[in-house]
Amino acid sequence: MSQKINGVKGMNDLLPGELGGDMAPVEVWQHVERTTRELFARFGYGEIRTPMVEDTALFVRSVGEETDIVGKEMYTFEDKGGRSLSLRPEGTAPAVRAFIEHSVANQEPLTRWYYIGPMFRYERMKTGRYRQFFQIGAEAIGSREAAQDVELMDMVVQLLEALGLKEVSLNLNSLGDDACRPAYHQKLVEYLTAHREELCGDCQRRLETNPMRVLDCKNEKCQAVVQAAPNILQFLCEPCKAHFDEVKRKLDALGVKYVVNPKIVRGLDYYTRTTFEFIAAHPALGTASTVGGGGRYDKLLKGLGGPDLPAVGFGLGLDRLTLLLKESGQKFSTPPDVFIAVADEGSGDAAFALASKLRREGLKVEFDTRGGSLKSQMKRADKTKARYTLVLGQAERESGKGQLKRMADGQQFPVALSEIVQTVRSAPPA
Ligand SMILES: [Zn+2]
Ligand SMILES: [Zn+2]
Repeated sequence: MSQKINGVKGMNDLLPGELGGDMAPVEVWQHVERTTRELFARFGYGEIRTPMVEDTALFVRSVGEETDIVGKEMYTFEDKGGRSLSLRPEGTAPAVRAFIEHSVANQEPLTRWYYIGPMFRYERMKTGRYRQFFQIGAEAIGSREAAQDVELMDMVVQLLEALGLKEVSLNLNSLGDDACRPAYHQKLVEYLTAHREELCGDCQRRLETNPMRVLDCKNEKCQAVVQAAPNILQFLCEPCKAHFDEVKRKLDALGVKYVVNPKIVRGLDYYTRTTFEFIAAHPALGTASTVGGGGRYDKLLKGLGGPDLPAVGFGLGLDRLTLLLKESGQKFSTPPDVFIAVADEGSGDAAFALASKLRREGLKVEFDTRGGSLKSQMKRADKTKARYTLVLGQAERESGKGQLKRMADGQQFPVALSEIVQTVRSAPPA
């Protein structure tokens, strides 16, 4: 016996139906992806698909060398040509890289893209958090107006609504810009330094590298310290304050509910002004309750060697969204319309051909290619939860007629074999 090989820890198989254990069935994933594509198209966002592997320098320069993502969590390797490559840990930097590389700014003044795909981080695992995780993200490049920030938030709100996820709240903040953030930064460092001994080990390190990250530390001791920390919103310069006020005014005008939360700093170095998070109040996710978030990154394009254009974007965790939907008990798989069963040995080819023909005509048809007794086929029909079964034998072949049996109540419907599609489509549900 050969030894079996398992999948990589933290990277999941997504399987159809109930086969996938803790993960949501693939039908839930398909539903979320389909809903996303339809909705985002209505907002004028086009889909991009960038490679899963990028030059390591892209993430070092955009996400930031001092972040946990780049410092500790990236899957980085050397390829056979000696280049340092990394599995993408997030989707914004690749989108911006593609935008710059294809000189998109020369072709359109405002670009709006979305993506759906896997990202990779070597993280400690907990519920809804994996090393290969899937994100839905969108980026809007070219507008510095508050309307662009609000359009993105509205798009997420409408997506969550369309998915039936109501217990999610929008938390909103502004991180200021180069004109006002340094003064805040200094005050924050002074305050945190005075409370250094009360902070967790990670935050003592963050105090040196990325002090704003202390604000969203989940450690209780740190949260107690942060309670009385200086508030970024009191340090905003006039233009940043006006931008933030306009974001709030436009959200109000659309009827989008939000709470202002000055602790929303996000993990990445490149954010400026607006940041936001969508936080789910749902026990299924345990402590991992942020389903997504984003913000404005007006300096990133220039920092990556591109044009000096403002941008704003978000990312949503597809793993968490699908877990929430799975918990909600909605069903996303549809049963077969008809199960074709073979009554006698001579009818196998005709039944097989009938199944093929009905599929061509648009029905979802199950057929047991293993053959076997009629009894075993009917057991299989039950198992597939087919709406109807049709038994095909010599009598049916000769008369061109059969009986559609509705599985829910056993009622039989006489049918011409040439009119099965019409009968199935017009029959009232049991
Ligand atoms: Zn901490
Ligand atoms: Zn400012």
